[in-house]
Amino acid sequence: MTTPVVTRFAPSPTGFLHIGGARTALFNWLYARGRDGKFLLRIEDTDRERSTEEATQAILDGLSWLGLDWDGDAVSQHEAMARHAEVANALLDKGRAYKCFSTQEEIAAFREKARADGTSSLFRSPWRNTDAADHPDAPHVIRIKAPQEGQTVIKDAVQGDVIVANTELDDMVLLRSDGTPTYMLAVVVDDHDMGVTHVIRGDDHLINAARQITIYEAMEWDIPVFAHIPLIHGPDGKKLSKRHGALGVEEYRAMGFTPAALRNYLSRLGWSHGDDEVFTTEQAIEWFDFDGIGKAPARLDFKKMESISGNQ
Ligand code: GLU
Repeated sequence: MTTPVVTRFAPSPTGFLHIGGARTALFNWLYARGRDGKFLLRIEDTDRERSTEEATQAILDGLSWLGLDWDGDAVSQHEAMARHAEVANALLDKGRAYKCFSTQEEIAAFREKARADGTSSLFRSPWRNTDAADHPDAPHVIRIKAPQEGQTVIKDAVQGDVIVANTELDDMVLLRSDGTPTYMLAVVVDDHDMGVTHVIRGDDHLINAARQITIYEAMEWDIPVFAHIPLIHGPDGKKLSKRHGALGVEEYRAMGFTPAALRNYLSRLGWSHGDDEVFTTEQAIEWFDFDGIGKAPARLDFKKMESISGNQ
């Protein structure tokens, strides 16, 4: 029996639903819906300073308008903070993580010296190999013991095997001194606990996958299938920015585009099915697969958007 497919969209609620996020959500939704799977929604709001209620609402509204229905309730990441801390402590117990008492000043001094000496500026904490048992429980973070030799291979369904030398991986922080989890820890724990089988997201997260794999391996958890999609660029081939015009789903809605037209257009941003340009959502669900995702950045094309809209 094969495991049922579970995908997720995991936005940070710091602003409106932009088309890059909407496309990520759509690809996850198409992949799950075409395989009798589940599509989950997790609001990554552990950063309490930057996350807002309005942004969460804008994301939920945007997804609903676009017709991307999620299974179960939207999950709020910060509600699982106790669980994140539990996993950090489990890694300590397993000897796969350690308490680091280095201060910000010590870390800054290390980096300064590394720059002056021309050596690697990846922080190597002296606490990695120091028994902290009889150290007073002063403020500390919990760091993972990253592998220091060999390589980590991200078996990516879009990019192929991506090899990262382990000398590039630092002992990243899992739990901050105030007990809050970092993004790296929270995302892995939640994906594991939610039973996510496929992580489909922008390729700006590709290098994070290598770091996340070290957590999966240390916990002896199954690693999900990763599929990192090339980002969307403007018609000029440059990174999307405000000067390229409409970037929010809300703006397309205000211009009168229908959800079906926008779904069709977004699915064509980075994914293709032969020469087909205009298709129904049912066809997209049936056809969508990682094979059709290109490796080069997708380009916005407002003319195409209008012609799809006219044909829908
Ligand atoms: N919350 C992250 C973001 O909005 C995405 C995390 C992920 O998909 O792994 O960029």
